[in-house]
Amino acid sequence: MEKAVLITIGDEILSGNTVDTNSNFIATELKNIGIQVIQIFTISDEIDTIKTTLKTAFELGDLVITTGGLGPTRDDKTKKALAEFFNDEIALDEVTFNHLRNYMEKRGRIDILERNKEQAFVPTKSVVFQNHFGTAPCMMMEQDGKLSFSLPGVPYEVKPLIRDQIVPYLKEKFNLYYIHTRIVSVVGIPESILADTIEDWELALPGNMALSYLPVGTRVKLRITASGENEEALKQQAEHEIQKLLPLVEGHVIAVTEDKIEKILAELLAERKLTISTAESCTGGELAKMITSNSGSSKYFLGGIVAYATEKKVQILNVSQDTVDQFTVVSEQVAAEMALGCQKLFDTDISLSTTGVAGPGKGEDGKEVGTVFYTIRIKDKEVTSKLYLPHLDRIDFMNFVSQKIIQDLV
Ligand code: ATP
Ligand code: MG
Repeated sequence: MEKAVLITIGDEILSGNTVDTNSNFIATELKNIGIQVIQIFTISDEIDTIKTTLKTAFELGDLVITTGGLGPTRDDKTKKALAEFFNDEIALDEVTFNHLRNYMEKRGRIDILERNKEQAFVPTKSVVFQNHFGTAPCMMMEQDGKLSFSLPGVPYEVKPLIRDQIVPYLKEKFNLYYIHTRIVSVVGIPESILADTIEDWELALPGNMALSYLPVGTRVKLRITASGENEEALKQQAEHEIQKLLPLVEGHVIAVTEDKIEKILAELLAERKLTISTAESCTGGELAKMITSNSGSSKYFLGGIVAYATEKKVQILNVSQDTVDQFTVVSEQVAAEMALGCQKLFDTDISLSTTGVAGPGKGEDGKEVGTVFYTIRIKDKEVTSKLYLPHLDRIDFMNFVSQKIIQDLV
């Protein structure tokens, strides 16, 4: 399995002014294609520091990704450090300059093209990945079969560069066409003892496979990831390794599943022949989307309502206006009534509901942004829970809440 090292460059991160979200995003994306991040450095905008860290990073991993310090401002020194480290010169790249011109033209800022021309200067040996959401391009350098990518720091520029360009490139380059993940859930063995017990097995895993430990309450989930070109072969390989693992933890295994929680839910519902429906407000349909992301979901998912306006909760889901007036629309009581209404409407065994404030800005009734109530109703029993997630943006909020509900359910 390929190993990656991330370098976050910027004094603003060291000073505590900016939280490093780039590393978290990149590590997750890489993990999804079977590349393991083995170390993350956070360093200052200094040429010598950048060079020394690049050296260490190249010794540790096969792949180095840096973010930050590419802006036209004077404190941004990554490009210079990159050129010096690779014994290269910086020169104007015509293709990048044309891209920059287009970018400026589209935004009606052709007047400042000259001032930004600096951004089209790159190390001559670099391969450029154009940035469609900013002016600093991403530069790839290669040395002894190892790669480095240098990206700007702005998170909304980093995300599309990684997801749409670098990840597809790496998949092709390292033949990482498929990822197959299995989870073995173990109870009753503390993580450290478990690690000792299966150490020999772990060390003998083939190079394209990796193991990680995910403790959840009293359970430890062992996640086994296999990456390679042939999906069917990967499945067989993972199964083969799991069969070797199971006798080592005999009596402690409660489940062997695929990674995705949606999938676990699908198996559970199909197995128990249960039906489900959703009534959503602040998750805007994300919950229904997650449940229906599995093929075959029509067997158990009967339908969902996104009742955003309070009056629609009342009209469609039969939430009582009195409850709304007394407790406000973002309340435990309304969540419970939504679930009940939904269960009746779709005539399902299980119904799920959400009501909350995804923000930004306060909800109509002054409830804090990030507050959400959700109800899980199974037959005639229901549980309503509250979450407070003010740190998440809208999309992450919807995602997190939906994931959490499915997790609670399984
Ligand atoms: P710019 O052209 O904007 O100067 P840049 O490549 O120089 O881009 P930086 O100046 O390092 O990038 O950072 C730009 C913005 O992105 C800043 O607001 C910074 O706080 C933010 N940022 C930088 N690195 C990270 C990171 N690792 N995680 C989250 N935000 C970051
Ligand atoms: Mg900057």
